[in-house]
Amino acid sequence: MRWSERQAAMLHEIGIRLWQPPQLEPGSTVSAPEAVAVEEVERPAAIAATPSLDEVAALGWDELREAVVACTACGLCKGRRQTVFGVGHQRAQWMIVGEAPGEQEDIQGEPFVGKSGQLLDNMLRAIGLGRAQPQGVDAAAAGARQVYIANTIKCRPPGNRNPEPEELARCEPSLIRQLQLVQPKIILAMGRFAVQSLLRSSEPIGRLRGRVHQYQGVPLIVTYHPAYLLRNLPDKSKAWEDLVFARKTMNDL
Ligand code: URA
Repeated sequence: MRWSERQAAMLHEIGIRLWQPPQLEPGSTVSAPEAVAVEEVERPAAIAATPSLDEVAALGWDELREAVVACTACGLCKGRRQTVFGVGHQRAQWMIVGEAPGEQEDIQGEPFVGKSGQLLDNMLRAIGLGRAQPQGVDAAAAGARQVYIANTIKCRPPGNRNPEPEELARCEPSLIRQLQLVQPKIILAMGRFAVQSLLRSSEPIGRLRGRVHQYQGVPLIVTYHPAYLLRNLPDKSKAWEDLVFARKTMNDL
């Protein structure tokens, strides 16, 4: 793969030195080991609990979003400013699954808009993807380059603590329905909570990356969460390897 100046600049921005990973050498291929954070705020009165998996199965985008906005299925509804549903192309080829909204997401109502979101955007841009509809591309064709981003849970945990199993379980039907509606060709699971939800695995990320997993028949690639990468800068190059691996997996489909 040959990198344009723009891509090289973006890689530099996310802390990746182009010459380092061998698979970035022109003409080389990527080896695939196996194919195979609360402020009191005024909030609207909750209307209903999250529907069960069976109930969400029939929901379209608008109804699902309304169900999430009204959700009182776990205690997180008490501390949220708003729910954070998801963003991007509704039939994206790439679906990115993160963890939980942080403060900025809770304020803005969109996933990954804080510091880790900036890193995520830069990483995606470096492999030709983004959350917004590319300019000059019509909506239907945009799904190849415009991703869909959703979180495992839709409300900010107080103080950005880890989501609890009960919260993950209560929110899962919404994520599953989003996956069913998007019908992505490939899923990028970022961090251990996305992995726990989608793969039912508690293996460390380091043991799961570099392989093609499957979620309901859809190839799933595991990588580090951007917030982790901001705290562990040397692992950025591994995340970059994961993105290149995901891109190659997608190209090979
Ligand atoms: N981390 C996530 O996993 N999701 C967000 O939306 C923000 C930070």
